Amino acid sequence: HHAKRSGRHVLNFTPEMQRERDERLYLERELQGALARDEFTLHYQGRFGLPACGLAGFEALLRWDHPVQGRISPDKFIPLAERSGLILPLGAWVLRRACEQAVTWNFPARALSMSVNVSALQFEQPTFVQDVRAALQETGLPGAQLVLELTESMLLRDLGLARQHIQALRELDVQVALDDFGQGYSSLSVLQDLHFDHLKIDRAFIRSASTADPEQSGGSRNARTVLEVMLHLAHRLNIHVTAEGVETEEQLQLLHELGCDDVQGFLLGRPVPATAAGDLLGPLP
Ligand code: C2E
Ligand code: MG
Ligand code: MG
Ligand code: MG
Repeated sequence: HHAKRSGRHVLNFTPEMQRERDERLYLERELQGALARDEFTLHYQGRFGLPACGLAGFEALLRWDHPVQGRISPDKFIPLAERSGLILPLGAWVLRRACEQAVTWNFPARALSMSVNVSALQFEQPTFVQDVRAALQETGLPGAQLVLELTESMLLRDLGLARQHIQALRELDVQVALDDFGQGYSSLSVLQDLHFDHLKIDRAFIRSASTADPEQSGGSRNARTVLEVMLHLAHRLNIHVTAEGVETEEQLQLLHELGCDDVQGFLLGRPVPATAAGDLLGPLP
């Protein structure tokens, strides 16, 4: 009986797995024509500087509105677009669109930056840095006002290539951020090996450092200490720290006390379409 049960798990799809697989294949097919059908848009979420919470920049976040399925989360479709290679034209579109928007918002006359998420496959293209240079040249956005967000797992796939690309991006004055830090198995080796301008601390970490749950207070105290040391380490390396997923006043207060540079999260502003994001801009200096 036991052997039969475990055998079934290994050899056969459960109905649940079958459904997930069908959905994946369906979305993968739908994704193919989505760019040409104009189903993608960018939303923008503000990043705010402490202590005054003034606007410091925006992060561009991709949205897919499927005509039948409605809005589909990037956490769901980005991995599919990576698998099929569609992420290459899609990532190029995002980069171009975000740079254009920043210029439309007069970024060159403001002290703001535009952050763009980059996928592993995109970053590993031999032409990646040239593509970034072309996007800057063609839109007129100064390199210093573009931040590219990279994750640790993609950098560890080929550290030598990562070092080379980051160095070449720095020559364009483009800023580099390490995204989702503290998520999963973060190590300190990438901080030692590569040069980042920004470190973005993952929202799960911000949540555990500020939890008010008394059962969790030991863990929360530890998380807070680790956060404090992360901030100290980043600052010693001249890295600017952004806390992601700030949802409560309590979290904001804690981050302020610990000397975090910037905050991002639903408390200060959700990702919104360009028209609404533009309302956050003050008058030109
Ligand atoms: P990310 O780059 O870490 O972006 C932050 C995610 O957290 C966004 O989810 C944002 O909407 C969400 N978020 C922001 N503040 C809060 C908060 O206070 N609470 C909570 N619960 N969530 C918050 P989103 O837009 O669904 O994007 C998910 C991920 O998809 C991104 O994580 C990024 O890895 C990827 N992604 C999004 N747009 C792009 C893109 O243009 N290119 C690539 N390669 N990846 C993208
Ligand atoms: Mg990001
Ligand atoms: Mg993140
Ligand atoms: Mg993320």
